[in-house]
Amino acid sequence: MAIVTSTEMFKKAYEGGYAIGAFNVNNMEIIQGITEAAMEERSPLILQVSSGARKYAKHVYLMKLIEAAIEDAEQSAGFDLPICIHLDHGDTFELCKSCIDGGFTSVMIDGSSKSFEDNIALTRKVVEYAHDHGVVVEGELGTLAGVEDDVNVSFEDSSYTRPEEVEEFVSKTGVDSLAIAIGTSHGAYKFTADQCTRNEEGLLVPPPLRFDILEEIARRLPGFPIVLHGSSSVPQEFVKIINEFGGKMPDAVGIPESQLRQAAQGAVCKINIDSDLRLAMTASIRRHFGQHPDHFDPRQYLKPGRESIKAMVRHKLVNVLGCAGKA
Ligand SMILES: [Zn+2]
Repeated sequence: MAIVTSTEMFKKAYEGGYAIGAFNVNNMEIIQGITEAAMEERSPLILQVSSGARKYAKHVYLMKLIEAAIEDAEQSAGFDLPICIHLDHGDTFELCKSCIDGGFTSVMIDGSSKSFEDNIALTRKVVEYAHDHGVVVEGELGTLAGVEDDVNVSFEDSSYTRPEEVEEFVSKTGVDSLAIAIGTSHGAYKFTADQCTRNEEGLLVPPPLRFDILEEIARRLPGFPIVLHGSSSVPQEFVKIINEFGGKMPDAVGIPESQLRQAAQGAVCKINIDSDLRLAMTASIRRHFGQHPDHFDPRQYLKPGRESIKAMVRHKLVNVLGCAGKA
């Protein structure tokens, strides 16, 4: 069984100029689609679970499904797929402790809505418990805009990470990786029309990521793994299919993949992807219902949903993250 922490993954990713994909999981088809893609591409993998996912599917189901995916990978490919199981956006010590006690190998404690001092104190407390149990911790400085499960931050309340704070935060907390805010955003509506320009086709073009802040943080924390949240690219082919088959997602826009590729080549070792999974699955299921209005067996539409997730994840591993063949 190859449930591992992200320590070795991040070390190799930093040195190799690529990033590990951290994909959010909620049910069996999503887990299967992602792990099959990682298996075929021989990619190290982080499967992450939000508190919303734990409420939806229950901790034990997600753990057992991930264990099943690893066992399946071993049997069918004779291959030990290294998977890190991570808590996304833990907001209390108790939630982090519950995931550590329940077999996760990595947790995020998100104290970014608190004062700098309170963020340090809470993060430090989680790090002490986690490290005692062989588990690694991701902290956060700076606040992303957008909506993701229980996290909802307006654009006015979002703020970039202040590079002058990172050394003190990392040394006082002992965190193993740091999520930063450089202009990514949670959800499928990452930017308002006011923040963007429009291209010739009328599609929104978001403001570029603040690579100057990323570079300054990397300079202050040499070799230290940086994490990007809210990094779905909201592929317009999915939005188009959703809108074509009865959906309504005007002006959904994400982070251009070329900018994510650039970040992955530097200090960014973990890139979080959730909305793109939701879009891939929903587009495929909407199209299926549009083309087969008589179908009512869930397997008929969940199968293409799973295939669509797998194809999207393969594309990310190879062309965006650069982690194919690194497991
Ligand atoms: Zn996030």
